[in-house]
Amino acid sequence: MAPYLLGLRLDGRRVLVVGGGRVAQRRIPALLEAGASVTLVSPSTTPALDDLIADGRVTWERRPYQVGDCDGAWLVHACTSSREANTAIAAEAEAKRIWCVRADDKDASAAWTPASGRVDEIGVAVTAGGDPRRAAGIRDAVVEALRDGTVDARRHRTKPVGVALVGGGPGDPGLITVRGRQLLAQADVVVADRLAPRALLDELPPDVELIDAAKIPYGRALAQDKINELLIEHARQGKFVVRLKGGDSFVFGRGGEEMIACAKAGIPVTVVPGLTSAVAVPASAGVPVTHRGVSQEFHVISVHVAPDDPRSTVDWEALARSRGTLVLLMGVERIERLAQTLIRDGRSPETPVMVVQDGTLPTQRAVTATLSTVAERVTAAGIRPPAIVIVGDVVRVGQEIEMVRAERVP
Ligand code: SAH
Repeated sequence: MAPYLLGLRLDGRRVLVVGGGRVAQRRIPALLEAGASVTLVSPSTTPALDDLIADGRVTWERRPYQVGDCDGAWLVHACTSSREANTAIAAEAEAKRIWCVRADDKDASAAWTPASGRVDEIGVAVTAGGDPRRAAGIRDAVVEALRDGTVDARRHRTKPVGVALVGGGPGDPGLITVRGRQLLAQADVVVADRLAPRALLDELPPDVELIDAAKIPYGRALAQDKINELLIEHARQGKFVVRLKGGDSFVFGRGGEEMIACAKAGIPVTVVPGLTSAVAVPASAGVPVTHRGVSQEFHVISVHVAPDDPRSTVDWEALARSRGTLVLLMGVERIERLAQTLIRDGRSPETPVMVVQDGTLPTQRAVTATLSTVAERVTAAGIRPPAIVIVGDVVRVGQEIEMVRAERVP
């Protein structure tokens, strides 16, 4: 017979869990999330359960099960390692007409726990004829589809309002956050930057208004005012606006300015952090920005103005003196001045450098050189923006990793 699925509202109700092992550890957090008042009966527990007990979230009776424990409970979980004990617990619950879930024997269990998940206010519960792995697999698929918008739940949820500044990650559409993707799936209007992951925009439903911020025909400063206006204007019309950027909105992304403008206009703004290219692109090229014994620090620098430009506020001498990794954004057009400055200020001309174009995208390519040869290499290879320049011995670590991998990993 198929089970009857039900959502139990456990707030303030007593739930008994007998047995303090891995099964209890999996079940108890969901019970607590539903507000249940959980009593655990068990001679021992796991470290994760110990934490819940120490926090006063679970009442622990440190002893084996005894008849009468089920009194006053609305629900019982029998998850001891002893079949005999579980049988006795289930029998007591049955006699008292309390629902009991047995972890060891689905056929002898009065109730089953479905594989469950939550996306905002939507609860998903799946049973699969008593096959927990299959149920979990289906649950994962449904939860994922709700999260990434494959299952379009737009009409069924409370719609977000205002503006969301969403960091889209470095370019690969798989590298946006789950929350970013959720909000994107709910957008009425998307205002996208040049570096916002293209593939995410191609997936938007046709009724979503897409504004390409790179195509706004003004100078840089004016264009930003225009973008702020667009965000505010659409939000005022009651539309939910997603401002989608490459990487993280607050890393050379002018996210702060947009936030201030929206806040001044009384528009609610949500920030969804993104994976910045400053870390993700080196990683994607196999270079760890820190490595024990090699680099204890990494500096992220925008080179949108050249080192010798009077508008530059960067302390190049300090950077040249430091032994940390340098991650330079918007620098490939000025690579020659950049390398010369670092050498002049004290970095060895032999310092390894890697330049990565289109990181995390199918078109990703990289050149490796030293400070003295990098400008020439970049020109010869025709490397163009968007590209990231990585300076420091971690580049060598990346090469070492690649060598070992090529030799040993099939
Ligand atoms: N907010 C973004 C950075 C914006 S500045 C972030 O957090 O990633 C734009 C610069 O970022 C580009 O000129 C380039 O230096 C770098 N960049 C962004 N995406 C990149 C990618 N996929 N590959 C290489 N460089 C990238």
